[in-house]
Order: sequence, then structure tokens, then C-alpha cells
Amino acid sequence: MAENHVDIEINQCKGCRLCIEACPTHSLVRGSEINKSGYQYTKFTQNGCTACGFCYYICPEPGTITVIKAEQRTAAHG
Ligand code: SF4
Ligand code: SF4
Repeated sequence: MAENHVDIEINQCKGCRLCIEACPTHSLVRGSEINKSGYQYTKFTQNGCTACGFCYYICPEPGTITVIKAEQRTAAHG
């Protein structure tokens, strides 16, 4: 069964952590790796995401976060 997914464009992330703080299910974490701009970018844990969209709405960097609901994934991948 498909689960909700959050896609993060890692090189656009500024590491502000707003999404991490906004996520009610602690599905986002700060990784230890650095992106091209020198920021420690956010990672999706693959766990517990309810596709609430809080992370998407709070992110100040347009296009960085995409929330993909399970049913959309099922439609896309069969
Ligand atoms: S969509 Fe909601 S639950 Fe999923 S990672 Fe973003 S804030 Fe967390
Ligand atoms: S809110 Fe956006 S820019 Fe800030 S850490 Fe999360 S993904 Fe990166």
C-alpha cells in the first residue's frame, strides 16, 4: 500500500527548519549532509506523514516541498 510522501528539492532548502517545527508527526528531520548552497537540508523520514500540508505551506522557498498523497502515488504508479 502506498504511503504519503514528501519530496524535498534538497538544493533549494535553506535549512531554516520551519517545516520540521511545523510537522505534527515528526516526519521531517535535519540531515547531517550539506547541499550545494552549504545548508543542512531537511529530510523526509518516510514515517507517519498524514499529508496535512503544513510543511508545504510554511516553507519560504517556493517549490522546495511537494506533498504527495498516497492515493496520488497509487494513481501514478498503479
Ligand atoms: S505533510 Fe504534514 S505530516 Fe507530512 S511531513 Fe508535511 S507537515 Fe509533516
Ligand atoms: S521550510 Fe523549506 S527551506 Fe526551511 S528547512 Fe524546510 S524545506 Fe528547507
